[in-house]
Amino acid sequence: MTHVPSKNFINGAWRDSSTGESFPVTNPANDEVLAHVPSLSSDDVAHVITVADRALSSWRAVPARKRSDILLAISQALLTRIDDFAKLITAEQGKPLAESRGEVLYSANYFRWYSEEAVRVTGDIIPADSPNKRIFVLKEPIGVVGAITPWNFPIAMLARKLGAALAAGCTFIAKPAPETPLSALALAELCHNSGVPAGVFNVITGDAEMIGEHLMRSPVVRKVTFTGSTEVGKILIRQSAETVKKLTLELGGNAPFIVCDDADLEQAVEGAIYGKYRNAGQTCVCVNRFLVHQKIAPAFTARLIARSKELVVGDGSASNTQVGPLISDEAAAKVTRLINTAHNEGATVTLPPTSNPRGIRFISPTVITGVKPSMTIWKEEIFGPVSTITTFATDEEAITLANSTPHGLAAYVYSSNLSRAMKVSEHLEYGMIGINDTAISSVQAPFGGIKESGFGREGGRYGIDDFLVLKYLSVVMP
Ligand code: ADP
Repeated sequence: MTHVPSKNFINGAWRDSSTGESFPVTNPANDEVLAHVPSLSSDDVAHVITVADRALSSWRAVPARKRSDILLAISQALLTRIDDFAKLITAEQGKPLAESRGEVLYSANYFRWYSEEAVRVTGDIIPADSPNKRIFVLKEPIGVVGAITPWNFPIAMLARKLGAALAAGCTFIAKPAPETPLSALALAELCHNSGVPAGVFNVITGDAEMIGEHLMRSPVVRKVTFTGSTEVGKILIRQSAETVKKLTLELGGNAPFIVCDDADLEQAVEGAIYGKYRNAGQTCVCVNRFLVHQKIAPAFTARLIARSKELVVGDGSASNTQVGPLISDEAAAKVTRLINTAHNEGATVTLPPTSNPRGIRFISPTVITGVKPSMTIWKEEIFGPVSTITTFATDEEAITLANSTPHGLAAYVYSSNLSRAMKVSEHLEYGMIGINDTAISSVQAPFGGIKESGFGREGGRYGIDDFLVLKYLSVVMP
């Protein structure tokens, strides 16, 4: 495995907390302590904001081509070290190694994509009303950016924010999740070695609430980009009022997966397996609710159960593992509670979880049928390897069921009739829709949600806009 960081990366160097305080990072598969990382003090955080502010004027002045070259170098360096980073991600997060490799590749692709976007940030010249007047529209970096990221994709969630921000000419302070700060810290050093100047990209750890408040309160931090729960997203919205801070929020989902009666069953079940059990069900775009046409529900359910049973649950570092542990005991307890509550509320646990000698975090793929919109498991984001199945009779009913949630991140529609699938998807209130597809996360596409799943987009040519502000020059030539 790569060097395991035990300090923060600030102003181009490894730093401890001024108080010497730290907290442990453990492997969710076996509780091994991987490292202790700093718990920054309030003064330390204030200092980092000053560092990022000082670095801004020279970084935004670096020619776009040069920033592009640095982003490409980061992408290439990540690919060179794909195995090191994959091992670190699996150690701190638990996902199978193959998925961790996929995450590093995906992250490298974001840096490559934004190396290409960095040189295409162009403004406009707009015809004015009088002959001696000119209107110019410029795009400028928004300034210092704070990023708060979750534990489910320890570097990918950072890469897609950071790539766009560096391309735009912003400086950056990242606060990764306390469960998984190690790969983010390792990325900071890799970026520094790839040419990112000191102070431009800093990674800090410590009390989330305190750091969050600092970032939100600071007039210097002009933007905060967050991926995490809707609950914390709402706190950030409230806090942003004080400084009228720009936010990008990628919050929770409650993804429906509609299977029409003309769907290719094999394709639908394979899509379901990927869309449900990837990262042990711990992604915000993971299927939360299977909505299956009543005509094919028995066949779909039987096939889904058969495939779910085949998945190997275990330590992510073992080469045959397909479903790793959940991130923590609390996360596992929540999923188990949801399964039990569904049963108590009248659903049938058709494929129950099997107990695992490794401990409660290792939850095997579980299938629950007869789920109704009144049930708790329908309303909550499961974030675990549990499939819930609800049947419907008409497309209109499926659409109503799918939309009956305050969330609006990802949705999936399976049908062999593409025009039917298109019609259904036009009525779905979601930011991203996979038609016969659950592999919807692509660097070239805009990732993000509507309703309580947040606002702003990451990825593609759209993702850089969130880190730019428009300035318009109205020029009269005397
Ligand atoms: P999850 O439930 O998936 O852990 P959270 O929204 O709690 O999702 O966490 C996502 C990120 O937000 C993490 O980096 C976490 O430390 C951070 N976080 C948690 N609470 C706050 C807060 N009050 N202010 C700012 N960041 C927070």
